[in-house]
Amino acid sequence: MGMKIYNSLSRQLEDFVPLNPEQVSIYSCGPTVYDYIHMGNARTALVTDIIRRYLVYKGYNVKLVQNLTDIDDKIINRAAELGVSAKQLACEKCEDFFQDSQRLGIQPADVHPKATEHIPEMIDLIQTLLDKGAAYVIDGSVYYRVNQFAEYGKLSNRKPEDLLAGARVEVDERKEDPRDFDMWKAAKPDEPSWESPWGSGRPGWHIECSAMAMKHLGETIDIHAGGEDLLFPHHENEIAQSELATGATFARYWMHVAFLKIDGTRMGKSEQNFILLRDALDNYPTEVIRHFLISAHYRHPLDYNQESLTKSEGALRRLNNCLDALKKYAGPVEASQTTTTPLQQAVQEMKAQFTQAMDTDFNTAQALGAIFTLVSAVNRSLTSDSEETDPAFAQAYQALIETCQVLGIYGPDPQKSDDNNVEQRDRLVHLLLEIRQDARERKDWETSDKIRDRLQELNIEIKDTREGATWKIVP
Ligand SMILES: [Zn+2]
Repeated sequence: MGMKIYNSLSRQLEDFVPLNPEQVSIYSCGPTVYDYIHMGNARTALVTDIIRRYLVYKGYNVKLVQNLTDIDDKIINRAAELGVSAKQLACEKCEDFFQDSQRLGIQPADVHPKATEHIPEMIDLIQTLLDKGAAYVIDGSVYYRVNQFAEYGKLSNRKPEDLLAGARVEVDERKEDPRDFDMWKAAKPDEPSWESPWGSGRPGWHIECSAMAMKHLGETIDIHAGGEDLLFPHHENEIAQSELATGATFARYWMHVAFLKIDGTRMGKSEQNFILLRDALDNYPTEVIRHFLISAHYRHPLDYNQESLTKSEGALRRLNNCLDALKKYAGPVEASQTTTTPLQQAVQEMKAQFTQAMDTDFNTAQALGAIFTLVSAVNRSLTSDSEETDPAFAQAYQALIETCQVLGIYGPDPQKSDDNNVEQRDRLVHLLLEIRQDARERKDWETSDKIRDRLQELNIEIKDTREGATWKIVP
């Protein structure tokens, strides 16, 4: 059986066939970096991580792009409250986001484009829409002309009259149509702005994602993912902009992750009702948080509460105990071994059920069910006088490790290392960069180059930018 994905656009399960069999392209809407991410944001990020891990497990190459919205009203307002620049706040919160994601065992995307680094691409896209008569300029702001896109509303399944009623809530008299939305906002005093053909200003949120997705993944992408709160208007508007500009399908599969709830109501910043991911990670191990977040299918509601987390803790303990007991049987497993014993049969069933669950719209809840059914079977075999042989236990061990690594709930993960060590390492690299910066200011190029070269030998690559040196670990 092939893979199926529930496409929010058609509102049904569809066979998953990537446009290019060589590489699946995924775009996931990332955070607006003005604060730490909460558990609801983490659910969306984790689901994307697991989609990617599973596609890789199935043998696909995947290119994942997750953007960072680093210019927005929320950032500007928060920065003003804190008395720092919007840029400084966005930089700090970007770093916090990467740190939190890493703590959750989320593998970094292939590209994390930042909005402020793609202003020329956004201006080009807006210009294309203006040239096509699909946009208009008023007082230095550029608006998208919704009535030029006949399919507007196809994702959210809203009829024009519903859209009009909704849009009237915030009336901007200057717009031709209440549904029109801004792609370029004319600069206001004391706000960050960039030059454009329409005067200085900044991009609207929707145009950012259209421009960055198309720049890094092309006109048509396979999977576009995001939280369900982004379906309208954000994703509807992304489609309108991109498809009118290119004439091509923008995203072939739209996936939306359901809200996380807390005590029955939606977890969200605007509701003042949230648990920060970093606070949750201070209280529970990574694997417990991951287990909890995928214990329901991503389209189903999930409630954050003590009881659920305690359940996840118990489940992880059972899994770890089982794997610890099996460890001594670890070793190469021959693929051709015939399945003769009950445990060997249970292993085959688990693998088949796991694949079927994940193939059916990434049903992690059922996939976990399959894993824990095998855990019970192993425990029965280990404690009873069953006649199970070493190869059966070795097969069970290997199958459990493989599937748990897809979900990131057990096992050495190359992307993950001890948090304290990582923090310590980051501090040391920053210290070296500071010393190097001092050397550069003294024009002591010898010391500066030595630090750069020696770090390079340790697979730490330094890049000098206008904002100072950045670094990353290279394989
Ligand atoms: Zn987006």
